[in-house]
Amino acid sequence: MSRLVRRSFHEESQLIQVACLPVPLRVDVLERTELGQSTKIRLTEKIGAIASTGAALLGRPVAEWSVRPPLPTREPPRRYDLGGGISLWRLPVGYVRIRERHREMPNRLAEAPDGLRFPLMMADKAVTGWLDCTAWLIRHPQTTILVDTGESASFGSDAYFAGIGQPKRRLYPRILDGAAPPGGDLAAGLREASVETDEIDLCVLTHLHSDHIGNLDRLGQRARFLVAREETRGASGSGRLPEKLPRDGRVEFTAPSLDHPVFGKVQPLTAWRDILVAPTPGHTAGHQSVVIDCGDRQIVLAGDAAFGDDQVAHARIPGIVEDAGAVRETYAKLLALRQMKPTIALFSHDPRNREKLTAYERAPAANRGLLADAMATSYAHDQFVQRGAAA
Ligand SMILES: [Zn+2]
Repeated sequence: MSRLVRRSFHEESQLIQVACLPVPLRVDVLERTELGQSTKIRLTEKIGAIASTGAALLGRPVAEWSVRPPLPTREPPRRYDLGGGISLWRLPVGYVRIRERHREMPNRLAEAPDGLRFPLMMADKAVTGWLDCTAWLIRHPQTTILVDTGESASFGSDAYFAGIGQPKRRLYPRILDGAAPPGGDLAAGLREASVETDEIDLCVLTHLHSDHIGNLDRLGQRARFLVAREETRGASGSGRLPEKLPRDGRVEFTAPSLDHPVFGKVQPLTAWRDILVAPTPGHTAGHQSVVIDCGDRQIVLAGDAAFGDDQVAHARIPGIVEDAGAVRETYAKLLALRQMKPTIALFSHDPRNREKLTAYERAPAANRGLLADAMATSYAHDQFVQRGAAA
């Protein structure tokens, strides 16, 4: 099924023509080393990965070939007081299961070129358990803001993919599995947080993957949507779904205007300039995050900029990213934020979000900045919580 065209013995790249792909794929066969370990990707593995992608496209959805564990017991929304009249609600809205390589490529494959990362990821048959999808609700004296909308109970249905063409419609359920428990959708979460959908002024979308925009239609007509222009452009090769954005004039493009020492420019969402939208591209072209500036510390709602702090600290690359170079730059900026002030990054699918926020809330107020810093570095976390509790 495949034909290898070796252009010349000494050339750095080879062309692989696979029957299921319309164009030859240029693959880098240079051996790379990292930490003294060979990271060469064998040619047979590359060809196999590309063939697996074709097979996955033709094959069954993840939900059918990978045994679905029962959905976790749904967590109710939880409010955290950030001081200054600002509260942050963590709203678990639905779940996803993804390939292990989707969450993180093994070191050996981490340097794969962007065009090859996707097939290498699709070749993985190991699937995670259910991961939380998180929507965040910020109640601020000046405004009420939702960040992302979680996954929908109708994931994978014809209604869910209405208006979305091939191959995305076919590929999506073959890349990941999504679900939400009955009665556990965004509207239920907002009700439990005592917020009417019509109270939401703005919904910031970190990016346009299904598990972040699964419930756009559950918001009231008052809500505007803020998305980066780059997110709606181009081939949306990683599965961005701009087709699901409302078309009634409520979508606005992010317009960064305020100088920021780490991000260059950010868009303030309040007159106090304490809630900022910052570009964090890489996972997708227009991925953006929300920074809540609490004065002596800050919290970053970082979407899928990474799956967790360790991934950022070690610059490990997930299997679905549109630009690995941009991911590394975004990681460096997330780390640089800590130079400004103690910082907690909260990622959409990070199982440690609750632990981070609970420890933050329980720490004596005077120690919160220090605690946030310790949690950002992650490693000293347990010892620090004990010290903080004893203080
Ligand atoms: Zn996600």
